Amino acid sequence: MSIKVKNLTYTYSKNTPFEKIALNNINLEIKSGELWLFVGHTGSGKSTLINTFNGLLIPQQGEVYIDEESTKSKEIKIKDIRRKVGIIFQYPETQFFLPTIKEEILYAPKNFNVNIDKKEISFYMQLLSLPYEYLERSPFNLSGGEMRKVAIISVLSYKPEYIIFDEPTVGLDYSTRESVFNTIKQLNKMGKTIILSTHWISEFLELKPNVLMLKDSKEAFIGSFDEFITLDYNILEDSGIILDEKLDLYRKTIIHKKENIKNKILNI
Ligand code: ADP
Repeated sequence: MSIKVKNLTYTYSKNTPFEKIALNNINLEIKSGELWLFVGHTGSGKSTLINTFNGLLIPQQGEVYIDEESTKSKEIKIKDIRRKVGIIFQYPETQFFLPTIKEEILYAPKNFNVNIDKKEISFYMQLLSLPYEYLERSPFNLSGGEMRKVAIISVLSYKPEYIIFDEPTVGLDYSTRESVFNTIKQLNKMGKTIILSTHWISEFLELKPNVLMLKDSKEAFIGSFDEFITLDYNILEDSGIILDEKLDLYRKTIIHKKENIKNKILNI
């Protein structure tokens, strides 16, 4: 089971004066159970790539395969892809339209014919520190952070195999950000495949994620977290990540370890 991207090129407004190549020959394989961090400055192509994973955008060149089926295939049903690949878009709370939180959360499972019981809803609410009593409230009367949490639960509720978070903590305070990141970590530990576009990567170093860095629509780096974090500072700066103290210390430790190993080999 995997999401496979082969020679993917995506161009907005193709053959018009506004033509813009947003993805240029991307190749990638995301296997079941993995955690991937997508990094890169604003405008590097992260959201465009993510939107090709559930058929929202169909590439003009190359292919995206979800569990071996191309999103371009005539046999594939877009609804099946949407069920498998759940995306939590930036500012998802702007899409609320039902009168209660309960209805918002149950809307997608009903639409996709997925069963969800009270216990599961309660589990997700606990995971995100939302009181269960909130279910009967209007989603429009919540704080910004609470709205974001409800929006996340309304994707988790239909149990997608691949869960994609596109900059899920934009505009959130520190404690909500922690809560969202802890939920993502917990979901991955439970075996869920997670793709996360973010600038806050130090939170995830202990999970040893894979990293894809996009720069100017191209793959600038693809590999392990440790390989990524030991790249030169100027490349890390180009990736738009927040290099906090914890991350910098980790980087120095890994570089030191690698040098020690190299020196030992040279001394043999
Ligand atoms: P990121 O998610 O890394 O910020 P995006 O995928 O949103 O990057 O954008 C990649 C490039 O495509 C940017 O230059 C952006 O301006 C452009 N772009 C994004 N969406 C559209 C659109 N709907 N129409 C035209 N250009 C777009």
